Amino acid sequence: MQSVTILGATGSIGLSTLDVMSRHRSEYSLYAVTGNTNVDGMIALCQQHRPSIAVMANEQAAEKLQTAILKLGLDVSVRSGKKALIEVSSCNEVDIVMAAIVGGAGLMPTMAAAQSGKRICLANKEALVMSGELFLDAVRDNNAELLPVDSEHNAIFQSLPVEVQQGGALESAGVEKILLTGSGGPFLNTPISEFKDITPSMAVAHPNWSMGAKISVDSATMMNKGLEFVEARLLFNARFDQIEVVIHPQSIIHSMVSYSDGSVLAQMGQPDMRTPIAHSLAYPNRIKSGVEPLDFSKLADFSFCKPDFERFPNLRLALEASQKGQGATTVLNASNEVAVDAFLKGNIRFTDIATVNEYCLTELGSASPTTIDDILQLDCRAREYAIANICKGSTC
Ligand code: NAD
Ligand code: MG
Repeated sequence: MQSVTILGATGSIGLSTLDVMSRHRSEYSLYAVTGNTNVDGMIALCQQHRPSIAVMANEQAAEKLQTAILKLGLDVSVRSGKKALIEVSSCNEVDIVMAAIVGGAGLMPTMAAAQSGKRICLANKEALVMSGELFLDAVRDNNAELLPVDSEHNAIFQSLPVEVQQGGALESAGVEKILLTGSGGPFLNTPISEFKDITPSMAVAHPNWSMGAKISVDSATMMNKGLEFVEARLLFNARFDQIEVVIHPQSIIHSMVSYSDGSVLAQMGQPDMRTPIAHSLAYPNRIKSGVEPLDFSKLADFSFCKPDFERFPNLRLALEASQKGQGATTVLNASNEVAVDAFLKGNIRFTDIATVNEYCLTELGSASPTTIDDILQLDCRAREYAIANICKGSTC
């Protein structure tokens, strides 16, 4: 029996993880679930899945949850705050941590899971993008296991030989290129002149995937693919020129690996995150995820093209940051979180997200953080720059 903590259990990945786990109750037990401030979501989840511990981000939310838990007579211990997040990610009772908090808020608990040698199923790409090699060092030094949940990285992982999955070099396995696929999001064919009028509800309506608001906007700007480029370089120890972004609007191929003999291996499936979640929980075994197999006779189109950097300046910025180094990716991640939040709140336009990001990257992108404290400070500074830039140029 494996004991699991789900960080970000009330979110899209968190709920999909609970769905997969509920199909395998004799193999996985639920130790702890965490959420931000969505008390109703957490109550429903506790009723259905009976974790031992539930953690909310602040005391107010935890008090509300505690009252409901008592009323319902559930045996769930309620906690709150950052320390509790770290505790449920690192304590001895836990074998697997599903890292599914969105954004930089997930870094410290995910780091704690690495430092205490857990299996980390990593959905929270921002944590890796902002901390890079420092996070990978913590994984290596403490014999933790890092399994990618992001569908592209999970697909790449599945298409690589075991030696590379275990940290071996791409070249010695005959890998020529990683082909990182992306749908291009909802605005792949929208005239660029209309981009300034894109509203939050238009941006979160992804054609293929159902996801949280932040990653949905990132998919619409293609910053998501940029963060994934950085993520892939780190996870697979790849040079810049060993990864190519390929647009594949149908999201059936989740990414590919091209080998020196001309073979290209792809992982395919429905656009449903329960597949990579099940893979990361059970690896090297396979378990049922609840996802229907593909029916190829029903697939009408299967198309590919190159990304357009004029249409998606955020993708260009992320690739530039990836070449510059850790400081640049930490800054870009932080600035993007602030800009996307401002866009979702109606404070800036869709097209301003790239403007804010470019400004922060130019101002702060040459920093070279070497410790986690440096990273956290730089992250804070970039957020302040982004907020100041937004306030200068708009309504707030
Ligand atoms: P979501 O917004 O649906 O859920 C986010 C979760 O994080 C929620 O449980 C929320 O309560 C929690 N959270 C948010 N801010 C927090 C804070 N400050 N402190 C503590 N908890 C906090 O997001 P999601 O779509 O589930 O995505 C989660 C992560 O997985 C993101 O990093 C995203 O990039 C990644 N991811 C998601 C998908 C997908 O299909 N949804 C695919 C690939 C990768
Ligand atoms: Mg992805």
